[in-house]
Amino acid sequence: MIELRQLTKTYGSTTVLDRLDLLVPAGSITAVVGPSGAGKSTLAQCVTLLTRPTSGSVLVGGQDLTHLGEGRLREARRRIGTIFQSDGLQTRRTAAQNVELPLRYLGVVPRERRARVAELLERVGLADLAGRYPHELSGGQRQRVGIARALALRPSVLLSDEATSGLDPRSTASIVALLRELRDDLGLSILFITHEMDTVVEVADSVARLEQGRIVESAPLLDVLRDPGSPVGAALLPRRAVATDPRLVTWTVHYRGDDVPADWLTSTARELGHDLALLGASVSAVTGRTVGHATLGVPASLDPALLIAALERRGLHARAAEVPSTLELVP
Ligand code: ADP
Repeated sequence: MIELRQLTKTYGSTTVLDRLDLLVPAGSITAVVGPSGAGKSTLAQCVTLLTRPTSGSVLVGGQDLTHLGEGRLREARRRIGTIFQSDGLQTRRTAAQNVELPLRYLGVVPRERRARVAELLERVGLADLAGRYPHELSGGQRQRVGIARALALRPSVLLSDEATSGLDPRSTASIVALLRELRDDLGLSILFITHEMDTVVEVADSVARLEQGRIVESAPLLDVLRDPGSPVGAALLPRRAVATDPRLVTWTVHYRGDDVPADWLTSTARELGHDLALLGASVSAVTGRTVGHATLGVPASLDPALLIAALERRGLHARAAEVPSTLELVP
């Protein structure tokens, strides 16, 4: 279990983390999401005490790490495994040798090291690739080596700092599946820091949204997805975005072709002389083609025929959204 209590980090007069409270129980994954600059990296550094928090506590298994001296802190840190966006592997060492490093530093005897490395590589599904060098592995496989290395000292907490960012969707899916397996099999508390909302739905049991150093929303994933008023929920499932302003009607707009102009929203609004509010969007490229949809809040006074025609000319199909009732949102 890891618990943050009133965790605060200031640099001079700048407060980067502002009295964060967060609890990740054993056997669960909490995602921390937030825009760039929200304080996610600082949080990761404070959790591992690589940066000393200004005040507040980091408790792992009930022990407060913030008041430990360097020696005891080094020991306590072993209970937190970390994985980063960059796998951080040593390029001249094989997968097995990379996983072995923390055990070497700890002075584990060679025979035990070999057995443990074999067990760890098996655990992350890389038993066959033990002798490969990092450049002979895919991004997802390298990240698996990183996870095996993070697990070498049997931590109870795993801190994942943007660990799937930059991976292709298939590798991301496999890393997510592995993390869930580790959560269940080893009872790990996993703190999953990311700016990628797509991954959160797949991986998290709970979500905390960080904004300007404060946790502004924190709840079990299911609650967030069921709550039509939750900003995180809307960001995770943008199709469910709904205009809450009674003067607006919710419309769904789908990309139809390849040549939708990037400024379609502003140019349509300008042409129609009405503000169009972008409530949510999920747009991606599939084999080089843009696919996706956006949800708009459209003034009720706007003639639907004009809106449909204006968007049609820009390669977009628009229809008034069927807004599901709150009951229908419950799976
Ligand atoms: P994120 O990872 O969410 O993008 P960061 O933790 O990197 O956010 O940064 C949060 C804020 O803290 C930013 O405004 C950044 O400029 C500030 N910050 C981070 N590190 C320092 C530092 N060492 N000194 C001063 N300000 C910092």
